[in-house]
Amino acid sequence: MPRSPRGRLFFANPGPTNIPDSILHAVAHHAVDFHDPAFMKMYDDCVAGIKRVLKTKQYMFMYTGSGHAAWEAALVNLFSSGDTLLIPETGNFSESWGRMAKNLGLSVQTVATPDWRRGVEMSAVKAALSEDKQHTIKAVCVVHNETSTGMYLPVDQIRAALDATKHPALLLVDTISSLGSLDFRMDEWGVDCVVGASQKGLMLPTGMSFTGVSEKAMDAHASSTLPKHYLSWTVMQGRKQQSFVGTVPVNFFFGLKESLRLLLDDEGLDEVFARHARLGEAVRRCVRHWSGNNGPQVYCSNPARESNSVTAVLMPEGHSAEAIRKTTKEKFNVSLGGGLSKLNGQVFRIGHMGDLNEPMVLGTLASVEMALRVNGVPHAAGGVNAAIEYLARGGGEAG
Ligand code: PLP
Repeated sequence: MPRSPRGRLFFANPGPTNIPDSILHAVAHHAVDFHDPAFMKMYDDCVAGIKRVLKTKQYMFMYTGSGHAAWEAALVNLFSSGDTLLIPETGNFSESWGRMAKNLGLSVQTVATPDWRRGVEMSAVKAALSEDKQHTIKAVCVVHNETSTGMYLPVDQIRAALDATKHPALLLVDTISSLGSLDFRMDEWGVDCVVGASQKGLMLPTGMSFTGVSEKAMDAHASSTLPKHYLSWTVMQGRKQQSFVGTVPVNFFFGLKESLRLLLDDEGLDEVFARHARLGEAVRRCVRHWSGNNGPQVYCSNPARESNSVTAVLMPEGHSAEAIRKTTKEKFNVSLGGGLSKLNGQVFRIGHMGDLNEPMVLGTLASVEMALRVNGVPHAAGGVNAAIEYLARGGGEAG
């Protein structure tokens, strides 16, 4: 056996994701002065490009830091100590954002979701808003695509709940595992603050994040008193780039320019979303086939909430998801995501976002099917064929 695995690592994690060679090459640029006019031109074009992906014409602030930095920026720039946030429970990431809010001195009201596999009930969100007659709730914070469960949340329905109850709360949305993979419409959906990061649908290295911010949110920012400086939008507005307190991470921008070229010009956003829908459905068809013999199941049991960028796969009772991950990694050089929070050991996650095509998905699925055999996990053999049949038709419903 060779000491290092042969062949390329099949990276099927839901973030970070595969970085296309053209982006890797673009990032490997010599350093430039971030005040240089040529850099500033590229910088402005990149900001405009991210706004196109977010579908907004409003404000944008960017941070050197992973998604957590943008999460924190959204909270410290909009709120004051003791303010109440309403957080619908979707999984590990709604819980983590809530924990951060509490640590920052905010009060969190959770919309409980008894069954994570079904997802949060819109009626429960609406009820919480209508009961809040005093308008104590300052914001509703939601995760558009819950990466831990592989589930999607229709943000337009959250907006509709706010409108129907005439509630003035801000709407904050985490798009970390959806942006550049699933459609997102900041302005149309009346979103006040969008949190995004570099390492998923944008196919960049980890370490840059950003927030799209509405006019209404800028008004809220003016009266927010939580302490801030490095992440402060006011401090940023005093700077030439209107973002980044400190040195601008210039190499990210060479990569971002290429990422935006791939998404917006080369493939086109609608095609990008269609590819994610096709690959996501292929993964689900495969897993549904495996489930036929009391095998693993798609964790999401609500068809309206299936995520096209990540699938969490629930193991049958008595079988460990970690054993499958260990086998795929050690035997086949395929990296899968693990289960987070209370799902640890129960699910593994297949990321299907970013720079991905049919053979990459099929290779991952075939490796998982082999790992099911190796580990003696019950399943209906041939799930990969179900994916092949679907993909060979180019996706689509028939058949
Ligand atoms: N929100 C979601 C939906 C995520 O998937 C992640 C990371 O996977 C985060 C937030 C946290 O982002 P980061 O790990 O970049 O700090």
